[in-house]
Amino acid sequence: MIKKLCIVGVGLIGGSLALALKKHAYVQTVVGIGRDAKRLAAAQAAGIIDIATDDYAQCQDADVILVAVPLGAFENVFAQIKPYLTPDTVLTDAGSAKACVVNIAQRVFGHVPENFVPGHPIAGTEKSGFSAAFAELYLNRRVVLTPVTRTADWARARVQAMWQAAGAVVEVTTVEHHDLVLAETSHLPHILAFGLVDSLAKQKDAQEIFRFAAGGFRDFTRIAASDPVMWRDICLYNRDAILQALKAYESDLSELHAAIEKGDGDSLEIIFARAKAVREQFNF
Ligand code: NAD
Repeated sequence: MIKKLCIVGVGLIGGSLALALKKHAYVQTVVGIGRDAKRLAAAQAAGIIDIATDDYAQCQDADVILVAVPLGAFENVFAQIKPYLTPDTVLTDAGSAKACVVNIAQRVFGHVPENFVPGHPIAGTEKSGFSAAFAELYLNRRVVLTPVTRTADWARARVQAMWQAAGAVVEVTTVEHHDLVLAETSHLPHILAFGLVDSLAKQKDAQEIFRFAAGGFRDFTRIAASDPVMWRDICLYNRDAILQALKAYESDLSELHAAIEKGDGDSLEIIFARAKAVREQFNF
């Protein structure tokens, strides 16, 4: 049970955690910290948070502080939390890339605090803002924690219990492994979806093209409606891992390109059958 949870950035991710913990009576008071008083008041009126404020002093006696802002805002937010981070409070985050967040913590606090537990819920939708939040977002979804050597076990246990109370399955891995795997499975597909929609939209007959868009196109490009700022930041802050994933994909894409150019049906069928088998095996 958490007595006081401070959420910096009450959007889809932070708001959904608040709703889930409230639903399961795992939290007493949720404090929403942000810059926009009007939006925070609306989140309070919607019952997502109990207290709305821009005062980071609220962090002082929190059991848990969750930072759920775009990656580009972390440095500023950590600096504001710093004067109020006491040893009994656990600081955690939901950022989509982890090496950058650990590096920012190191820079701002002078070392990675032992009560900081880097985390990332592998759950989301293409919608953003607190109005898109819902209590079931984390149900049976994975949350990856990437503790570093200094991270205290008690702090990790508190964050793990919190996400489990929200219905999530918690996994622990290294910062590096997280960033590479997420670059391949989440960041790359988002970049491809944004890129494809933008590329088609630039064509002269774009309206006509989209008129014919059917199920496959809709499935593949749903995530291109995601928040541009969040995805800009993910590309900037997980740059190396994303470049590595893009390079591997570009090479495989040129294999497909060559097979189509040569009319090499056998190769195409082998590649498609291989992908179909994997897709069916994992049933994501
Ligand atoms: P969101 O846009 O729904 O919410 C972000 C919130 O942060 C907004 O309320 C915004 O006003 C606030 N904010 C922005 N800058 C701020 C600042 N400087 N100070 C205080 N508040 C600030 O975004 P989200 O989808 O909830 O994502 C939040 C974080 O979680 C991001 O780091 C994102 O990478 C990560 N994440 C997102 C998803 C997803 O699918 N949406 C999944 C996992 C992790």
